[in-house]
Amino acid sequence: MMEIREKQSGRPEIKAVLFDKDGTLIDFEATWGPVNQRIGLFAAGGDAAAAARILDRCGVDPSSGRTRPESPLAVAAADEIADALIAAGAIPPRGELLEQLHGLFTDAAHSSVPLADTPALFMQLKAAGLRLGVASSDTAAAVEAALHGLGIASLVDFHCGYDSGFGPKPQPGMLLAFANACNVDPRDVAMVGDSSHDLIMARSAGAGLAIGVLSGTGTRATLDSLADAVLGSISDLPDLLAASKG
Ligand SMILES: [Mg+2]
Repeated sequence: MMEIREKQSGRPEIKAVLFDKDGTLIDFEATWGPVNQRIGLFAAGGDAAAAARILDRCGVDPSSGRTRPESPLAVAAADEIADALIAAGAIPPRGELLEQLHGLFTDAAHSSVPLADTPALFMQLKAAGLRLGVASSDTAAAVEAALHGLGIASLVDFHCGYDSGFGPKPQPGMLLAFANACNVDPRDVAMVGDSSHDLIMARSAGAGLAIGVLSGTGTRATLDSLADAVLGSISDLPDLLAASKG
């Protein structure tokens, strides 16, 4: 599990690590489960049964309450979620939905539930000389709020959201912008994320490593074929990066 498949000759020299946020740095269900329920009720005009139907169509399993991998509520940006809610029968107009989504997402960011001791991990990676970034399908403001909530804002060299002007995942723009900001080649970047969007972005940008984590909505089935390595969580990252230096 800790071995990295070598797809090209030689091992990548990793100088920078770009993290996804939800499901990678923060506990997706603990942070977003209650938010999704509030989104459903707002979209349904307060009708609980209609809310469950709308949420089901946007990715929340009505029996388990969990978010399905690769569904709009698992991976999409706010504007795409608004469109999915409308297609599922949401009552409020798109502008109101979007305003509500942005408000709820920013509130939730301040109370993000971490998946690891993120300050300790980020300090360890910084001490190893790595540049660090966070790229999310959330808004840049919500990413910044989450970084403060996690206690890692001062350790992160670069962060962006879907509204930062680099395009959405899985387009390569966010990773290329991170490499540019750190003055490294995309080949020197390791991308770490819990969804296929993160890994496809890594591939399309030519990143040196695409690392999947099983701490979010992704599974071995959704990540294995796209990843150089799949880890239980970001806590395993220092060992993997040390091994990649071989
Ligand atoms: Mg994620």
